[in-house]
Amino acid sequence: MDIVLTGTGSPLPDANRAGPSTLIKAGDTHILIDAGRGVVMRMAGGGSLPAFLSAVLITHLHSDHVCALNDVITTHWIMSQGNATLRVYGPPGTAQFVERQMGALEADIGYRITHHDMLVNEPQVEVTELEPAEAFDVNDVHVSAAATQHAPVKPTLGYRLEHGGATAAIVGDTIPCDGVDQLAAGADAYVQTVIRRDLVELSPNEMFRDILDYHSGVVEAAQTAARVGVKRLVLTHMVPAPTPEQYPEWVELAAAHFDGEVVIGDDLTTVTL
Ligand SMILES: [Zn+2]
Ligand SMILES: [Zn+2]
Repeated sequence: MDIVLTGTGSPLPDANRAGPSTLIKAGDTHILIDAGRGVVMRMAGGGSLPAFLSAVLITHLHSDHVCALNDVITTHWIMSQGNATLRVYGPPGTAQFVERQMGALEADIGYRITHHDMLVNEPQVEVTELEPAEAFDVNDVHVSAAATQHAPVKPTLGYRLEHGGATAAIVGDTIPCDGVDQLAAGADAYVQTVIRRDLVELSPNEMFRDILDYHSGVVEAAQTAARVGVKRLVLTHMVPAPTPEQYPEWVELAAAHFDGEVVIGDDLTTVTL
């Protein structure tokens, strides 16, 4: 199983980091988790395309995690010439979000159907809303969901994906909680969105400091990784985004609490399990 970090950014615009998303490639099964800014470009860079996706899993409906879902939908539709169904899984609210995206795309859908004789239907998107603790299979990948804590954003989900004896936990924005522990327990890789609590606290901007109460810090992610016996901790969605010269400092912070490998994500960093 390959974990490709298709976007390691955050809401803060960054020339080198697309918005949050992660691609799992398990044999021929490609699964995308979240669809932040620039995701389709990064999928192309990571050897995938929307038309190859067996599923899209959404962690929550914060705009940074879903703002490019419309691009995934449209590109999937066009490249499959309208013949394939895009399967989207997410927390309650996902169906309405997708329906509204389709509403926003209405003019484009009309233009393309009018212009291409081959294209006879609008995008086929099948949404499954999940409750925490639901599990299902996407081809031969076993997926389980658990509730995470990102209040006031509710509900939010993280995912555990198992394939061929390898386990990846792809956890979205959350503070440490039981759900994260369940998802990450014994995982070969635990991918966590993180902030640097010590740096964010220094900001004079009150709105920026508001993010402190609903994200994992690097230290907390490392403590979770150690507590539940993770092999590799992969940091993504880092706020503030570090420059490569600052990576050792981030690793050191995590390594004080966690003995395993710590990976600082760049866009298209690939972790092979
Ligand atoms: Zn986020
Ligand atoms: Zn969020």
